[in-house]
Amino acid sequence: MPKRCPICNRSSDEIRFVGELCEKCAGDKLRERLPVQVEIERCRVCGKIRTKEGIREEDKDSLQSVMQQRFNRYKIRLISFGEGRALLDVVDHGWDQSFATEKDVQIKYNKITCESCYRRLGGYYEALLQLRGEQERMERFIERFKRYTEDRGEFIADLKEVEGGYDIYMSSKALAAAYLKEREIKAKTSYTLSGLDRSGKKVYKNTYAIRL
Ligand SMILES: [Zn+2]
Ligand SMILES: [Zn+2]
Repeated sequence: MPKRCPICNRSSDEIRFVGELCEKCAGDKLRERLPVQVEIERCRVCGKIRTKEGIREEDKDSLQSVMQQRFNRYKIRLISFGEGRALLDVVDHGWDQSFATEKDVQIKYNKITCESCYRRLGGYYEALLQLRGEQERMERFIERFKRYTEDRGEFIADLKEVEGGYDIYMSSKALAAAYLKEREIKAKTSYTLSGLDRSGKKVYKNTYAIRL
């Protein structure tokens, strides 16, 4: 005895059934229950989005992670996205058999300023590299150091041309130290107390005097 869908009256001879409903009506029901809009926090400066893994470039992986978090009762696969919309493949395991449907959601971007941009805009720095020496070598150093820094998510807060060389203000002293060590560049290091952090620990800025 074929089943009949109570909504559209299709029979199980013509279409696959999911529980009591035909596949098409079950899909409509599932889509109705899903939100039409998802809010995502996006940095107004660098354009990255907030995911549960932190601030990340907006791409298929990061967006999928955000969507999965929002639609946490279902298994989500991001099919495509762009122009403030995302097309999702939604698998619902809450029926007698798991069952998938496609859902088009609107993305509403809420503007934030991410931590890294906040520090950058505030001129934050932890390390000062004082380069002195030959012009060409200093220029090469600056170019390489800048690339190294940015590839690792940190930044040059300021670069000043001074008498006899350049002063580079950089966001991370750990990264500055790592760079100098990797390249076996000798530097005279000094420390300046810059204040206390939230837990009351003393914070130092490092100055590296580098002769090239
Ligand atoms: Zn139906
Ligand atoms: Zn940012």
